[in-house]
Amino acid sequence: MIAYNLDNIKKELPSGVKLVAVSKFHPFEAILEAYSEGQTAFGENRPQEFAMKALQLPPDIEWHFIGHLQTNKLKLVLPYAYLVESIDTLHLLEAVNTWGEKNAKIINILLEVHIGAEESKQGFTPSEIKAVLNMTAEFPYVRFCGLMGMASHTDDEEAIRADFARIKALYDECRAEHPELEDFKELSIGMSDDWRLALDYGCTEVRIGTAIFGNRQY
Ligand SMILES: *Cc1c(COP(=O)(O)O)cnc(C)c1O
Repeated sequence: MIAYNLDNIKKELPSGVKLVAVSKFHPFEAILEAYSEGQTAFGENRPQEFAMKALQLPPDIEWHFIGHLQTNKLKLVLPYAYLVESIDTLHLLEAVNTWGEKNAKIINILLEVHIGAEESKQGFTPSEIKAVLNMTAEFPYVRFCGLMGMASHTDDEEAIRADFARIKALYDECRAEHPELEDFKELSIGMSDDWRLALDYGCTEVRIGTAIFGNRQY
C-alpha cells in the first residue's frame, strides 16, 4: 500500500517539487518500505523519535524536522537534521545559532509562518518574518532556506487557497527584498489533504504523511 500510494503521488508531483514523506508515529518498517521505493526525504515532529530513527535507519536518508522544537531538545535534532522546517520563535532561532556555533555546524532552516489557521498557534506572523529577515547577519550559523506553512484545517477550498496565496505572496516579497539570501528558495506548503492545491502556489516542497502511510496510531 505504501509503495502504491507513493507511486501515485509521485506521478502527479511536478519534477521540481520535493516530496517529504511524513513518517511520524509510523514504525521503521513503514519507512524502509518507502525507502526501498526510492523515497529518501522523511519528516518527523518529535525530537526523541527523530533522533532514534535518524540513528538507526539508513544514513543517506534526508531527515526533515517539522515539529515544535524546544531549546532543551536541540541535541536530539540538530546533529541529524537536513532541514529544520519549524523555526517559530526568535528564542529558538538564537538557540539554534548558538548550538551551531558550538558544534561548528551551519543549520539549514525554514521559518514557520502563521497564516491564520486557528488550530495552529505556532509560527511567526508575516511582519515578524520580515523583521527576522532583516537581522539574519546576527545568525551566522543558520542558513535561511525559506518558509514553511500550514493552511487552515477546513474543507473550504477557497479558504485554503487564500492561505496559500498569502504565504506565497509573503515568500515572493521576502525574496525580492533579500536577494543576498541566496539559499532562500524553499516554500514548504501542502499536506495530505491540500498538496494538489499547494502546487498552484509555487510550492517547492510538500509534506505528506497520511496519504502515504495511512492513519497514525497515537
Ligand atoms: C503531520 C504533519 C504533516 C503531514 O500531515 P498529513 O496530513 O498526514 O499529510 C505535514 N506537516 C506538518 C508540520 C505536520 O506536523
